[in-house]
Amino acid sequence: MKTDALHQAPGSGRVYLVGAGPGDPELLTLRAVRLLQQAQVIVYDHLVSSAVLDFVSPTAERIYAGKRRNEHTMRHEQINALLVKLAMEGKQVVRLKGGDPFIFGRGGEELQALAARGIAFEVVPGVTAASGVSSYAGIPLTHRDYAQSCMFVTGHLKDGTADLDWPSLVRPRQTVVIYMGLGGLPEICRQLMQHGAAATLPIAVVQDGSISTQKVVTGTLADMPERVAQAGLKSPCLTIIGEVVKLHVSLAWFQPQLMTRQPLGF
Ligand code: SAH
Repeated sequence: MKTDALHQAPGSGRVYLVGAGPGDPELLTLRAVRLLQQAQVIVYDHLVSSAVLDFVSPTAERIYAGKRRNEHTMRHEQINALLVKLAMEGKQVVRLKGGDPFIFGRGGEELQALAARGIAFEVVPGVTAASGVSSYAGIPLTHRDYAQSCMFVTGHLKDGTADLDWPSLVRPRQTVVIYMGLGGLPEICRQLMQHGAAATLPIAVVQDGSISTQKVVTGTLADMPERVAQAGLKSPCLTIIGEVVKLHVSLAWFQPQLMTRQPLGF
């Protein structure tokens, strides 16, 4: 049990693995905001928005841990070693990650490194991109008329191919959400059609969901790679595939251009 871990190293530091949500700071949990205001050190990833970082205590030390594709600011072992070192110095550390730390965030791996050293930790979930980005794009992930299940997969390519269970992704009446799928989009669309998905199946790619630069591009499996290229979308982008994407036209509510950074008044 995690509570054991919290008592293993009395008097020493603690690491809080905190989800920062998809970008809009309004989506932070109350626990996350409190910890950001109390932490001595924040170790954060590139997906954490600047508006979220505005909540960090001005006296906290901020350490940027990366990493974008092709920009490996710190290797994963280095990040683990850093967290261990800071906690052993007795620091209260917030390890801040975009979205939810346990969904494609390697949070589990970091905690294993801490657990192996008997370092106390706590996990604060965040709004994962699938949930936050789809909400801000007006695309319900399930809907009784269109999808009764939803899958979250990573589209990160290894050696140019995504090692995905394609037959399970083309089942009818389900929504597929692909994290890290921008670079591999043409291959993903091609494979889905090859495995029996209709060329007309609706698909959306959402860039910068929930912040002022949000862009939503919709299309079909057949024309999406071209549309995304034309729109010049940049990472981070979330891909949503399924009939539910049709609802975007009528349910899109978020107007990124009207977004203002008002103090939250907590
Ligand atoms: N732990 C994170 C996911 C990390 S993987 C979470 O729970 O959300 C990084 C991928 O998440 C990106 O490549 C992108 O697919 C997605 N993502 C995260 N934030 C996003 C945002 N604001 N808009 C669009 N996609 C986002």
